[in-house]
Amino acid sequence: MTTDAKTALLRAGIIGWPVGHSRSPVIHSYWIARYGIDGAYDRYGVPPDQIEAFLGRFSDHGLIGCNVTLPHKQAAFAACDDVDEVGRTLEAVNTLWLDEGRLHGANTDAYGFLANLDQAAKGWDKNPGAAVVLGAGGAARAIVWALFSRGFDPVHIVNRTVEKAESLAAFFGTGTRAHAWDALPGLLQTANIVVNSTSLGMAGNPPLEIDLAPLPETSLVADAVYVPLETSILKAARARDLVAVDGLGMLLHQAVPSFAKWFGKVPEVTDELRAHVVADLSKDG
Ligand code: NAP
Repeated sequence: MTTDAKTALLRAGIIGWPVGHSRSPVIHSYWIARYGIDGAYDRYGVPPDQIEAFLGRFSDHGLIGCNVTLPHKQAAFAACDDVDEVGRTLEAVNTLWLDEGRLHGANTDAYGFLANLDQAAKGWDKNPGAAVVLGAGGAARAIVWALFSRGFDPVHIVNRTVEKAESLAAFFGTGTRAHAWDALPGLLQTANIVVNSTSLGMAGNPPLEIDLAPLPETSLVADAVYVPLETSILKAARARDLVAVDGLGMLLHQAVPSFAKWFGKVPEVTDELRAHVVADLSKDG
């Protein structure tokens, strides 16, 4: 990997394994150019058996900070000297930065989820009620916390492996309930919001096939998946005239606090940025 601690260039990046699919470089490089910052943002593949050593010697890599993606978010949390409140609650961080030799961490995934809905579906949380989250992985953990933070209660966690839903519900405690997939039709009847945080529907994976007919007509449907942008669940929601929000906005918004922390400028999520990233995604066919 490129390391040059002596250069004036502000160097950030993303660590993960694999990391080649990440669009974070497209987003941050756009903002670096847009705001005329003397910076760079690259991908750094770090295998699981090297992550502890990589994080333990973070200051050796010439990075002012980095994003963290699968499967390293928990390892990054464990390696930090200081972690923000959300990261401490979720026990996972996606943003790291050095300050006077100390490694700081934050979790901006929940912020990204909320900021996306605030921008794309204004007033979406005015009357919070029941929420249904499909999936019980890393994205679900951030999304369940985010929904709680806006007053949604109960938050139903529905997952193929019900034990993982139970474990996530136990992690959050009161207000969350774990369910197997076959409970969905009943849960949808009272859901104000449904969020897909499984990898179903993502390019290369089977589609997410659920019947949205039981949902009330005021419900919102959101997907964390952003490749493709228009997933089958979003198409089904639009066919019912429900508000439907894709996952790209979450990705764009979670990058905002990271960029601000490293480069000292709060960047904007604009239609132009979105179009720029969509164009890059379309290269994958
Ligand atoms: P993860 O921790 O690996 O969790 C994957 C989830 O998908 C699990 O709940 C898993 O269920 C479920 N799943 C996988 N294959 C399935 C199948 N065939 N049938 C039913 N359920 C299945 O992954 P993650 O980090 O949470 O990411 C999940 C999705 O969110 C990915 O598509 C990712 O790209 C997206 N995401 C988007 C953003 C964004 O900014 N928009 C951020 C993070 C993640 P089991 O427990 O039963 O295996």
